[in-house]
Amino acid sequence: ELLSQEAGVAPDQEPEEAVRTVVETGGLKIVPALGEAPNGRKKTSILGGIDARSAICVPLPARKRTLGALTLARTGSGETYGADDLALAEDLAGRLALAIDRARLHREVEERADAARVVAHVADGVLLVDRGGVVRLWNPAAEAITSIAPADVLGNSAVEVIPGWTDAVGTIPISTSPDPGHAEVVIPFETDGGERWISISGVNFYGGTVYAFRDLTEVHQLEALKADFIATASHELRTPLAAVYGAAQTLLRHDFALDEGGRDRFVSLIADESERLGRIVNEILLANQLDAGRLDLGREPFDSVEVVERVVEATRAFAPAEISFKISAGEELPLVAADRDKVRQVLVNLVENAIKYSPDGGKIEVGVEAHDGAVRFCVRDEGLGIPEGEEKRIFEKFFRLDPQMSRGVGGTGLGLYICNELVTRMGGRIWVEANGKKGSTFVFELPAAEPALTPQFGPESVELHGFVPPVRRAPHR
Ligand code: ADP
Repeated sequence: ELLSQEAGVAPDQEPEEAVRTVVETGGLKIVPALGEAPNGRKKTSILGGIDARSAICVPLPARKRTLGALTLARTGSGETYGADDLALAEDLAGRLALAIDRARLHREVEERADAARVVAHVADGVLLVDRGGVVRLWNPAAEAITSIAPADVLGNSAVEVIPGWTDAVGTIPISTSPDPGHAEVVIPFETDGGERWISISGVNFYGGTVYAFRDLTEVHQLEALKADFIATASHELRTPLAAVYGAAQTLLRHDFALDEGGRDRFVSLIADESERLGRIVNEILLANQLDAGRLDLGREPFDSVEVVERVVEATRAFAPAEISFKISAGEELPLVAADRDKVRQVLVNLVENAIKYSPDGGKIEVGVEAHDGAVRFCVRDEGLGIPEGEEKRIFEKFFRLDPQMSRGVGGTGLGLYICNELVTRMGGRIWVEANGKKGSTFVFELPAAEPALTPQFGPESVELHGFVPPVRRAPHR
């Protein structure tokens, strides 16, 4: 409603009946009617709240619709609207309607473009299935997750073009409004690139159902690995615990006497097994610290050969008789610029794995050589080897090639994850290669200390929150 307002006077918020009729019918209203004499005292009821004596109300026409009405009113008595005023009002109304209509159209187009942009760029897959079961929308994320191109699904029946849709659709929770916290299901989905796990839910509306889905494959895999981890870690913890408990019980018995040698055997068994327990717990703690980014690494130049020799010495003492060791060291080796204790830990882990995964014995070779300004360590075994395609995954957290322990070899799946994290954080890299004949070769490289810089390196503090560096470890039985 357009109005030349007198100070302090405004029309009612709700339009009068007469104005509403103009909007609804598209006809106009003029008070008093053309040619009728003004009634000096009578007010029109056309603009409630305004003391109008005469008024003219014309519809705002736009594309066969009426957007509203334009009302002009005069409060002075004796003045009425005539045919000229009507023509002017209609002309004004036409222009106004055009402007309002354009503005609205513009806004609608903008909103639609925004909506389309959101659907195109959102990371979740969005799928619209109309009431007839036909796919009407398939956004780029849906394509990325499922590897199905829009051209293959759009306009087709969902049941025919989306694999497993018939089974899935019954299990997907559908709500009638996009409320927060509504249920989702996680279902497997076969794609050309292998099985993906997606979390999906739907919202019904008059035009069909909108489904939104996310790719949870990695989370799902991690969950599965975690479940395996809990099974193997509890097994790993239970075995030494049982041994410690059994030995302690035996020592406590009074009904049969143990000689000195017997007592010593049980006491050292308790010591060894407790240490093994401590190692497992430390491994879990360290992995946790690495995840949380809470680990400071020192960087002092040290002699790599000395570390290699010590590690081999320490592990050799506990290795089964069928395992033999060889150390090879290159000529003119530069010092390594890294955290000595962590390098030792990585080496211990690799050598122990080499022993663990060589159930039939064999030779373990630990080597160190200079390589392109770096120092390269390698641990070569003749054991079970790593199947092709798994070379990367074995460095993932909790990943074990044989979670069922079919060969009786247990572990937490954290060792190589920790090695990889430590080596990477010390500015190096680690990988595994096939060992020419049989078994595998684990290699890692660390930066060499520049000779000129060497004197400037002070022994930096190696601060480890709550982590006690492991001492020695009984070979896995
Ligand atoms: P775990 O505690 O299981 O030994 P790791 O992270 O040290 O965990 O190793 C991950 C997996 O990689 C092991 O479960 C094993 O399947 C495989 N693996 C590691 N080292 C070797 C090796 N030297 N030979 C064969 N397989 C190995």
